[in-house]
Amino acid sequence: MTSAITKILIANRGEIACRIIRTAKKMGIGTVAVYSDADVDALHVALADESIHIGPSAASQSYLVPEIIIAAAHMSGADAIHPGYGFLSENPEFAEMCEKQKLTFIGPSAKSMRAMALKGAAKALMIEAGVPVVPGYHGDDQADDVLQKAADAIGYPVLIKAVAGGGGKGMRTVLSAKNFVSSLNAARREGQNSFGNSNVLIEKLIQKPRHIEVQVFGDSFGGAVHLFERDCSLQRRHQKVIEEAPAPGLSMAQRREMGDAAVRAAKAINYCGAGTIEFIVDVANGIENAAFYFMEMNTRLQVEHPVTEMITGTDLVEWQITVANGQALPLTQDQITLKGHAVEVRLYAEDPYNDFLPATGVLETFDIPNMDSTRLESGVMAGDSISIHYDPMIAKLVAYGPTRSAAIANLKTMVTKSAITGLTTNRDFLIACLSHGEFLSGDVDTGFIGRNQDVLIIEHRVNERERALASLAILANREEHSVAAAALSDEPDSPWGYADNFMMNIPSTETLLFKDHDNGDISVFTTHENGAVSLLEGDIEHIATINDYDAGWLSVNLDGHSFSYFAVVHESSVTLVLADKTMTIQRHALRLDSGEDADGPGQIIAPMPGKILQVMVKNGDTVAKGDALLVMEAMKMEQTITAPCGGIICDLSLNVNDQVNDGQILLNITQEDE
Ligand code: ADP
Ligand code: ADP
Ligand code: MG
Repeated sequence: MTSAITKILIANRGEIACRIIRTAKKMGIGTVAVYSDADVDALHVALADESIHIGPSAASQSYLVPEIIIAAAHMSGADAIHPGYGFLSENPEFAEMCEKQKLTFIGPSAKSMRAMALKGAAKALMIEAGVPVVPGYHGDDQADDVLQKAADAIGYPVLIKAVAGGGGKGMRTVLSAKNFVSSLNAARREGQNSFGNSNVLIEKLIQKPRHIEVQVFGDSFGGAVHLFERDCSLQRRHQKVIEEAPAPGLSMAQRREMGDAAVRAAKAINYCGAGTIEFIVDVANGIENAAFYFMEMNTRLQVEHPVTEMITGTDLVEWQITVANGQALPLTQDQITLKGHAVEVRLYAEDPYNDFLPATGVLETFDIPNMDSTRLESGVMAGDSISIHYDPMIAKLVAYGPTRSAAIANLKTMVTKSAITGLTTNRDFLIACLSHGEFLSGDVDTGFIGRNQDVLIIEHRVNERERALASLAILANREEHSVAAAALSDEPDSPWGYADNFMMNIPSTETLLFKDHDNGDISVFTTHENGAVSLLEGDIEHIATINDYDAGWLSVNLDGHSFSYFAVVHESSVTLVLADKTMTIQRHALRLDSGEDADGPGQIIAPMPGKILQVMVKNGDTVAKGDALLVMEAMKMEQTITAPCGGIICDLSLNVNDQVNDGQILLNITQEDE
């Protein structure tokens, strides 16, 4: 029997580290944060009782080094380590090291992890336990021709998966035999690079699948229960984007059947702690009577555990600590009940309009509303730098409701009222998903995002109404500054509520200059009198009043319609956060833009810092528009860089494994007539 945990070192960062600290505090347990160079000022460090620096920014030299983490635990006098998810959470050697060092590892045994670590071996084990698995090949023989024959026998389309894969990495869909080998090599390479294992398995590709997973929990007395299911079908490239619980449309009988199968799976490996059994459900003929198959088990706390907590009224981190303390599960299966519905969105620093390329930079605004029946799980604050070193997920927004539609509506309000500026995030994309009829109807499958890309990701062109809203923000911002400057004028009433006091300090007419998409100038001529503003762009006139301006949030009336929005005003731009769109409108530039015209269309610049994985062309090669040139790895994802135009390759001097910097010229493509 282990002695009670008194101080936990959290071997993680970001939102999950903050989440664990919260529960530990509630339980009266001390907390120790660890941080790399990049995380000196991070939120998890600020929240913990103590913190220890563990090395350089690269995770491979800090968060991922077992010896450093264990030394930090000893130094701080912690008696337990919580690994969170990712990093060392599913590393059995690390779990063993902890036990040897008399540190309680808050997670399953190394033995359970090993049993489920490789997808192929896990499938074999599940077949034995009587849990259905996806038809396919998961043998040890990894010869190209053996795998190709297996794929041919399964019948295309097939899915190749790195057996050690996770987070959607190391997977390739193969539609026909002729593409098999190139996809195999890509999956192997990603498996090797990300997980140090190039072995793969092959599965029948389920054409209309839903991802439904069951939360399980075991204790050291052999007890095991489930806490119902989560539907994580809204995915982009096999990565979860929106998760909910319970799964829409699942019958009580199916729920029971899947729950029982999941508990059988957990018992088969004497599982102790929090785990998730992921199933894939074939909904080609609807959800009723649909077949479900085991995909994999995640032997850790899952990113989307909050939706389960909301519908069951539990604290799963508390359960983890209880079970790690050698105590029995807090509830029996009969005592675990399901109430209402919960939905979560993952907020990523990424650019949906640029193939979801991870975005880096300074988070200028991070303003998320605090509403009833919602939860913000965040690892960041305004002013933080989002670096290339870690996962681009910066927060999770979660909402509850008595019904699915109420929960979605609640979440949509929460996301809509969130202002995030300074770098691009998937906020608007999330709102589009939450608003889509197919999603609202509950008829979801993993193809939803890919299929609806065209309506979910619409490249926005700023229109004249938005320029009017930007103009109002500029005027309000200027007024605020002049009010602040004239702070001596001890005025009892705020000027903002009073239309006639408003804008007393700014000129009564002013021309504001913006750039349109083609860099042409657009002017908006503003006049105001008695609190009413006239905005004239060309021959279109808008009439507006500004009713409120508070910490960047504006409430205005424009042409008889009310608008609530957020704006950041800079000399050279205005960023508007509207209910469903975030946009930056360039103002007339004061400085000359030197770069833009000098760069030819054929100059290929690294979009972010990263490592070159593959070089597909050489100097002198002729390429056509769209041809793949290089593969680089940035923020743990592979990015293929393609030719923006046809021409001849020159100035290329990169080799595989070269590190490149943001903005570095990688190569040039010259046109033949130059
Ligand atoms: P889950 O399986 O918990 O729903 P994902 O499949 O998205 O979540 O994530 C699986 C893996 O992806 C994690 O084990 C981890 O390797 C990586 N990962 C995802 N998000 C993060 C993060 N914020 N920090 C570190 N690793 C992460
Ligand atoms: P990871 O470890 O990366 O999470 P999984 O095996 O859990 O890998 O699969 C990730 C996602 O890929 C699933 O959620 C599902 O959307 C999709 N997927 C997995 N297996 C199949 C399959 N056989 N057919 C269709 N889609 C699949
Ligand atoms: Mg998975």
